[in-house]
Amino acid sequence: MLPSDDAASPYRTRMARKKTPIPPAPPVADLGAPGSTHPVAEGRLDAAPEHEAGRIRAVFSRLRDAEPAPKTELVYRDPFTLLVAVVLSAQATDVSVNKATGPLFAVADTPQAILALGEDRLRDFVKTIGLYNAKAKNVMALCALLVERHGGAVPRERAALETLPGVGRKTANVVLNTIWGDPVIAVDTHVFRVSNRLAIAPGATPLAVELGLERAIPAEFMRDAHHWMILHGRYTCLARKPLCPTCPVSDLCPWPEKRP
Ligand code: SF4
Repeated sequence: MLPSDDAASPYRTRMARKKTPIPPAPPVADLGAPGSTHPVAEGRLDAAPEHEAGRIRAVFSRLRDAEPAPKTELVYRDPFTLLVAVVLSAQATDVSVNKATGPLFAVADTPQAILALGEDRLRDFVKTIGLYNAKAKNVMALCALLVERHGGAVPRERAALETLPGVGRKTANVVLNTIWGDPVIAVDTHVFRVSNRLAIAPGATPLAVELGLERAIPAEFMRDAHHWMILHGRYTCLARKPLCPTCPVSDLCPWPEKRP
């Protein structure tokens, strides 16, 4: 677990301080240039597998050098509190979620305790988070189902997780990866953007990107790939003004609109 202050992120501080020396990378000068016929830019990943494997490996090597042990920035104590935090984080920042869950988990950090708290009091704790009404309802229903079907524990299986209110594939993947280390990728807005810009697994939908990433990312990087891509999207490859001039993978990036 990391502190929740984005501005003080150790990742951002490290990235600003150094540009990591990197292993030799394959030639990439023509990747994604306007008018490029490079297979990655066109989504034909299989057309140059060896070339692409080297480039993608270099991308993750550098991201790993920048943050060898990436973690979620959501603050949690155990599988249950992580699950609640992730449900609350939909379309909200980790910082805003942590501000709400700190006081909440201090008084109720089990499904039984949140059920005892009641929906009105839960809503008071989370009312600073976007969509808090619907989220409070989901958390109450999720707690009831956990108690009823799973003895109050968070299930280990994706299928069981996805039956819980407010829990979709992305949330299930976060829990499976963060708690149990499963090599799965949760595709949020940052992962989606970074994957497409870097042409690691171009895709039009989160599921297409997720499945493409599972095929494209070397096994040694799979467990932490999700966190590296989130951190890269959150602090460097920003949606509107990506920090390309200081980006550690700029020379590996085929995005035609990257900044010089
Ligand atoms: S060069 Fe720019 S667009 Fe490409 S990954 Fe880096 S920050 Fe993102």
